[in-house]
Amino acid sequence: MASDWAEERETLLAIYDNAIEATDQGFYMRLRPDVDHEQQCFVQLDLTFQVPTNYPEAKPTVLLASPRGLNHEQFTRLVQDIEELVADASEAQEACAIDVIQSLKTGLEEMNQPPSTCVICLDNLRSDNLYKTRCFHCFHLSCLIRYLYYRHHNMEADMTAEDHARLRAQYATDEEIAAARLKEERAKPSPCPICREAMPADRTLKKAAEEIAGMPPTLDPAGSASPVKDLPMPLSPQQRKEQEKRQALFQRQLAKGGIICAS
Ligand SMILES: [Zn+2]
Ligand SMILES: [Zn+2]
Repeated sequence: MASDWAEERETLLAIYDNAIEATDQGFYMRLRPDVDHEQQCFVQLDLTFQVPTNYPEAKPTVLLASPRGLNHEQFTRLVQDIEELVADASEAQEACAIDVIQSLKTGLEEMNQPPSTCVICLDNLRSDNLYKTRCFHCFHLSCLIRYLYYRHHNMEADMTAEDHARLRAQYATDEEIAAARLKEERAKPSPCPICREAMPADRTLKKAAEEIAGMPPTLDPAGSASPVKDLPMPLSPQQRKEQEKRQALFQRQLAKGGIICAS
């Protein structure tokens, strides 16, 4: 009955306030786990709940869309849980919107884990050196810096004929064209290495971009040394301590003749 939904809608608005968009026909809500910081939120889901005129006798239509950070198995599990919940409620002729939201929130909170592997280096991801993009993809921050470095410095190869003609009209030399192109690229948000969605520069990425801006503008022409090898690698205090420990061990072994230096 329509009045049932009107009553349930009032309750939903009282609980979820601005987080919910409710109408006579149902509601829409973006669901995410409760976390203190955006960088701790690894999963997200959009919920649309459509109410038929004879709700709750008739089943509502529940649509789960735009899953972020969830694998196929996790998403399927959430869909199945909700299908069961809605079927049970409908059989009992009970309203179920709040239960659907709560069930999904609980599920998302359980699944709120970053992926275990960085797709750039295939090494394990650790929470102390992880960067999450707006599209919910996670990388080591140091790997993402390397990616941005390569992207910015390989722009010349990617330059289209139109880009070249446009810049040629403004600048006289190839060096000036390359520098202008680099500047343009740095001003644009770079695409995510996985899904190509633009990664707007937040504070962390801006800092990374500044480090990149301090790098030499082109790759070493002799090709003898990899410029990436010399990129600043943000180390955690723990990594730094470990590095110092190994350095001391190396020096001790070197002094005792345990290591033969080729140079
Ligand atoms: Zn990595
Ligand atoms: Zn992405």
